[in-house]
Amino acid sequence: MATKEPEIITDKTQMRNWSRAMRSQGKTIGLVPTMGYLHEGHLSLVKQSHRHANLTVVSIYVNPGQFSPSEDLSTYPSDFHGDLRKVMSLSKAVDVVFHPHNLYDYKNNFKNNDVNDSKRSESGNAGSGVVSCVEEKGMGHETWVRVERLEKGLCGKSRPVFFRGVATIVSKLFNIVEPDFAFFGKKDYQQFRVIQRMVRDLDFGIEVIGSEIVRDEDGLALSSRNVHLSPEEREKALSINRSLFRARSSAEKGQINCKELRDLVIQAINDAGGRIDYAEARLETLYTLYGRMKTEPMAPNVDQSSFLEYAYFKHLTYLLNSTSQIVDQESLEAMEEIKSPVVFCIAAWFGKVRLIDNMEINIMKHFCN
Ligand code: AMP
Repeated sequence: MATKEPEIITDKTQMRNWSRAMRSQGKTIGLVPTMGYLHEGHLSLVKQSHRHANLTVVSIYVNPGQFSPSEDLSTYPSDFHGDLRKVMSLSKAVDVVFHPHNLYDYKNNFKNNDVNDSKRSESGNAGSGVVSCVEEKGMGHETWVRVERLEKGLCGKSRPVFFRGVATIVSKLFNIVEPDFAFFGKKDYQQFRVIQRMVRDLDFGIEVIGSEIVRDEDGLALSSRNVHLSPEEREKALSINRSLFRARSSAEKGQINCKELRDLVIQAINDAGGRIDYAEARLETLYTLYGRMKTEPMAPNVDQSSFLEYAYFKHLTYLLNSTSQIVDQESLEAMEEIKSPVVFCIAAWFGKVRLIDNMEINIMKHFCN
């Protein structure tokens, strides 16, 4: 547990040395990667890390590699001093704030593209006047991590370099910080799955832990980008979470046709004046289900008199007996009917702001409770 204010480290060698020194003392390290402009969603990850690990590192770095030239890097909000105040409000839960200037600067010669420069941070935008896609200008970085199947579709469709940039920067952070645990919000559901898969496929010795979505009182998922919504747009954006909750309750009442649920959601968001990027039900990974079963055994509560409950129980038993197949099925496949746990994912524009949200729908669990 931290005994003083967090140390601020900007240099990657210093960061690695700190981690190695702590690990040599037998301490475990939790990493919470963020792009700053922190809110309660980020802080929930920090609290989770504080519970799991001896020491917590929060990284604050707006990653240019995940923005394509047409995206909002130059207007991404930033307030480093405000972030520090929020981190410090968590009564010593954070040991290090890792705030590198430019993680693609290998020769120290990219000063003009220094998106995390503290002067710019004070301006309130993380990347004003900087290049968005690092590859475009050949900034000396050539190696990209691709999670080939999972990065396609959903956010990957309209943001073609996004997951490549995320997987690459997270790999870099993992190599610099060398954490034991890394915490990701399920608000960015596809991202969470991409990172889980990358860690498995590339044998990172890190446990990836997902954290539930934190919402405002009115249900809007917290996001750094919410600051760009006008009051009217924010009100309209509530159609996202409201329609997701409605879709879940319709599914629980027996509407398991994904197209019908999708139409319901799209209609509600269009009526509110939003512009849909995507609205899709995807198979929630069976790997998750297996993880849940281990921490949250359901079998004793299952009343096997109902066919659905029985089927669910059989399903779980099968999963527990066939771990390798479970991992093979980690997929985010598109679904036509809600027969297995699904995650309903949405991205929609309100004005110039693109918001994402999702809802896990598990009608089997609903029947079993
Ligand atoms: P960002 O700074 O937006 O890149 O987010 C950093 C981390 O915080 C990611 O793992 C996000 O999924 C997570 N996060 C962002 N918003 C929320 C939220 N409302 N609830 C839970 N986690 C979140």
